[in-house]
Amino acid sequence: MDNLFPGKRKLYEGKAKVVFPGDNPGEVYMVFKDTATALNGLKKGTIEDKGRLNAEISDILFRLLEKRGVRTHYLSKVNETTLRVKELRILPVEVVVRNVVAGSLAKRSGREEGTPLPRPILELYFKCDELGDPVWNDEHVLAFGAMSEEELTEVKEMAHKVNGILREFFGERGLELIDLKLEFGRAMTYGSAGEEVLGPIVLGDEISPDTCRFWDKDTQEKLDKDRFRRDLGAVREAYVEVLRRISN
Ligand code: UDP
Repeated sequence: MDNLFPGKRKLYEGKAKVVFPGDNPGEVYMVFKDTATALNGLKKGTIEDKGRLNAEISDILFRLLEKRGVRTHYLSKVNETTLRVKELRILPVEVVVRNVVAGSLAKRSGREEGTPLPRPILELYFKCDELGDPVWNDEHVLAFGAMSEEELTEVKEMAHKVNGILREFFGERGLELIDLKLEFGRAMTYGSAGEEVLGPIVLGDEISPDTCRFWDKDTQEKLDKDRFRRDLGAVREAYVEVLRRISN
């Protein structure tokens, strides 16, 4: 993993990815790791090959979304575990879109996991590890200045569009998209004096079984990070299966 960037300083290291400076202004390299965390970082582990699988899955999905007119940070795939992406000023809000009740929504709604929703539910979470990413609504986002009204409207529209495209794409491949978590940011470019110039809002981060829930349509088998979170076994196999379904 480090071969591409010998001795290069990291810009940022997260739970599942490392970001390195790019070779051009406004670009960075996103290297996917095999490490996984759950329960707000309390559970830690490694999923063999996850970096490669998630890089490949994200590569396929970002290219699909770009083709369908969604602006994303994706530029190219550089090697097995690395994507070249636009450098973003990430908006401090995680956007979750849900099609079926699962996870934290099952607890908060008292509805059984697997209950289909008559319409997708979009949720906002304040990105803050120390607070455990608390759920926010539009008013919190605006009052605390996490996004402007225009940004929030655009982000919500984009999130619903992404959910629609991916739900159909996975559905055609026998996978139900239960829910997904998206992150958005503004592309950073630099002016003639080296000053930061913010571009339009684009979809960032990753789209993978770490950040989405997928269930097999026929068997309802979970094919995502819940296998790790809940110790269901065959974690790597689930990620391999998701990649197999979406390849070609
Ligand atoms: N999710 C994520 N990162 C987080 C929290 C959630 O990628 O920090 C994803 C998760 O994989 C699922 C969706 O967002 O696809 C909804 O997660 P939920 O709120 O049900 O939380 P969880 O049960 O994962 O704690």
